[in-house]
Amino acid sequence: MASVTHYIDGRHTVESERKQALYNPATGEVSGEVSLASTGETEAAITSAKAAFPVWSEMSPLRRARVLFKFKSLVEEHIDELAALITQEHGKVLDDAKGELTRGLEVVEFACGIPHLLKGEITEQIANGVDSWSLNQPLGVVAGISPFNFPVMVPMWMFPIAIACGNCFIMKPSEKDPSSTMRIAELLKEAGLPDGVFNVVNGDKEAVDVLLTHPDVQAVSFVGSTPIAEYIYSTASHHGKRVQALGGAKNHMVVMPDADLDQAVAALMGAAYGSAGERCMAISVAVAVGNVADALIEKLTPKVEALRVGNGVIEGMEMGPLVTADHLKKVEGYVAAGVEEGATLVVDGRGVEPEGGEGFFLGGCLFDNVTPEMTIYRDEIFGPVLAVVRVPDYATAVKLINEHEFGNGTAIFTQNGDAARQFCHEIQVGMVGVNVPIPVPMAFHSFGGWKRSLFGALHMHGPDGVRFYTRRKAITARWPTGLRAQADFIMPTMK
Ligand code: NAD
Repeated sequence: MASVTHYIDGRHTVESERKQALYNPATGEVSGEVSLASTGETEAAITSAKAAFPVWSEMSPLRRARVLFKFKSLVEEHIDELAALITQEHGKVLDDAKGELTRGLEVVEFACGIPHLLKGEITEQIANGVDSWSLNQPLGVVAGISPFNFPVMVPMWMFPIAIACGNCFIMKPSEKDPSSTMRIAELLKEAGLPDGVFNVVNGDKEAVDVLLTHPDVQAVSFVGSTPIAEYIYSTASHHGKRVQALGGAKNHMVVMPDADLDQAVAALMGAAYGSAGERCMAISVAVAVGNVADALIEKLTPKVEALRVGNGVIEGMEMGPLVTADHLKKVEGYVAAGVEEGATLVVDGRGVEPEGGEGFFLGGCLFDNVTPEMTIYRDEIFGPVLAVVRVPDYATAVKLINEHEFGNGTAIFTQNGDAARQFCHEIQVGMVGVNVPIPVPMAFHSFGGWKRSLFGALHMHGPDGVRFYTRRKAITARWPTGLRAQADFIMPTMK
């Protein structure tokens, strides 16, 4: 049985007093236990990161990048092992776990370009003999708190850029699937990262609260549900920290009457049921415009019924289990609520017979005739449940999406360039796809939603990531040829 502790100052620690069971969601069996850090243990990680900062931040960006280059090849070398750890604790199918690792590695690749990304700006001769330039310098100790659904990719949205910029990092992974992050810490050390630059503290609210309030932590990146994101944002901001807190989602895909229905259906299947719907960019609402709804339901139904559901280690599985028994119960509760509220349950995934496991499984569920007042429309379900909402026209589809409290991702399927352009312009959502169902930006762009899907000014990774993990310093310098003999008592202006 695995005992997952913490990774502080380049080594695994002893077990904490408080612990929690880890499960294999495909079998429902306990696979180990994870330590839950005390206040003192979390403070030890902060102390280690603070001690490592002077040397790491003074190292040239090129040398820091070289550690990341080496780390990238180590992750590639160990991709099967890492994917297996993800599948064992999260449940997603192995190929999907590898896809997650690849998307995470893209941020590492972006961070390898840090010597270029850190360059400041310079203006020569702002006055006679005077130059001005800006520098981007690291913040110090920064922390990341991540959700269960991407145990490697979401941490990789954060730490590669943070450490490339010269910061020291404390990662607090989800207590549901921490093992892959612990292996990442070992690989970083093997790549040559000095002890203390990357620490992992496992735990719950007790550890998180230390990171949000400790005076030596300068910035907090969070990804998780909206109520916790709001708590993180307000608490850490109140304690003077820079915060980016990404929250929940309810992503709509508009299917226009002129869309290629086969392409739209294929896109919906992957986007709604991939990773059992446990993705913040999963499509959970299909908005059928005009007369498209009947044909859409007709094409979707047999595909949802035929989904291959089972243990993610079996080749060919399309959908694994939900992450915990509690989460399964919650999602099944939403299915029951949808029926009670009057939606039409076209495919009922409850009681599915999964292949190779008796864990926390739910088959694909498909609802028709869902209306905006229903709980299954309003709430983020985070499971394999797709709701079809019928609307008469494009304008009603846009109004529906813009009025939803979340604004993470959305997509439009159409062959009409004009409608697509108008959609991109007026939709109140942070990430938009045109005939692309899950428009997750590549690592060199930034990821983030609008409205109650993100709290803070900056998005994650890409250019915003570099801005988030650095602070600017503007320098104005004059050398002897530009020096003036007399004192100036008025506001300096260009002469
Ligand atoms: P969660 O909010 O329950 O947990 C996220 C993190 O917060 C975990 O590390 C957890 O230990 C910690 N946490 C939980 N309760 C806490 C508390 N009371 N005080 C302090 N810390 C606490 O989220 P989850 O269930 O792990 O992940 C699913 C959620 O994450 C969904 O809502 C999903 O939409 C969201 N998510 C969002 C994005 C995005 O980019 N917007 C990406 C992935 C996941």
